[in-house]
Amino acid sequence: MAFEGLTERLQNAMKTLRGKGKVSQSDLRATMREIRLALLEADVNFQVVRDFVKTVEERANGAKVLEGLNPSQQIVKIVDEELTKTMGEEAVPLNKAEKIPTIIMMSGLQGAGKTTTAGKLALKLKNEQNARPLLIADDIYRPAAIDQLQTVGQQIDVPVFSLGTDVDPVEIAKRGVEQAKQDHNDYVIIDTAGRLQIDEKLMDELSHIKDAVEPNEILLVIDAMTGQNAVATAEGFNKTLDVTGVVLTKLDGDTRGGAALSIRAVTQKPIKFVGQGEKMSDLDVFYPDRMASRILG
Ligand code: GDP
Repeated sequence: MAFEGLTERLQNAMKTLRGKGKVSQSDLRATMREIRLALLEADVNFQVVRDFVKTVEERANGAKVLEGLNPSQQIVKIVDEELTKTMGEEAVPLNKAEKIPTIIMMSGLQGAGKTTTAGKLALKLKNEQNARPLLIADDIYRPAAIDQLQTVGQQIDVPVFSLGTDVDPVEIAKRGVEQAKQDHNDYVIIDTAGRLQIDEKLMDELSHIKDAVEPNEILLVIDAMTGQNAVATAEGFNKTLDVTGVVLTKLDGDTRGGAALSIRAVTQKPIKFVGQGEKMSDLDVFYPDRMASRILG
């Protein structure tokens, strides 16, 4: 289960405060030490942990929480609020073009869940907004990727634009968008190629696609299971592409929590959706406050 270890450790850290009419400075310090270790063990970025602990401690001291009523409850509330803030405070909706189609470009490493998420997102838009999306198969390096997207398209009854593997991806993206304009599709979702790790060629190609079609939304798909690497990957993609949002996948797995808690703070880009399963319906809007509650258990 996701966050299992983190939830347990955070609960234990705060348990010692429970029932105390008054919380001393040393009680608070001991609790904060435990919270810090819990976050580090969950693979949360070091700087994010430091800022988090500092803010919680300052707030606990500043508002005379320690001498007030129910200090432990108030500290739990502060931790909850600061976890929420770390993850971005509010849900951030998809960007939308003034004139259709809204162009969404998916990016990320191979295996992160781009193709699956492209399909999930198309289905979500279809179901919730009655939209008519067009999927574009722009990963020409793995022939299986095109088949995979076509299978997804059939499954959710969404058309897939493909020019096979012999056309330049920039050209495919441009022609796909042209097709969408002709057909009055309201969304275009471009499934781009990934690599096992960030390399210059991949980034150049993504930059060129970006320049050619000027997406309204560049979603970076990140595998939540990859912890600190997820954050490094996010920084790399964001530096080149200036992404507009993040999708965190595989939150149904036993991720420790590091990616969910670090990505927003490190990249300053909102997590917009979370993938919570392999089925096409397993994509949810990311609500930082609900995620904080889930982490606290
Ligand atoms: P891509 O290479 O980035 O296009 O990744 P794929 O879309 O092919 O996904 C790689 C694997 O991850 C596939 O087996 C997907 O079913 C799986 N996957 C994607 N998103 C999720 C998710 O949210 N939860 C789970 N459990 N698996 C996922």
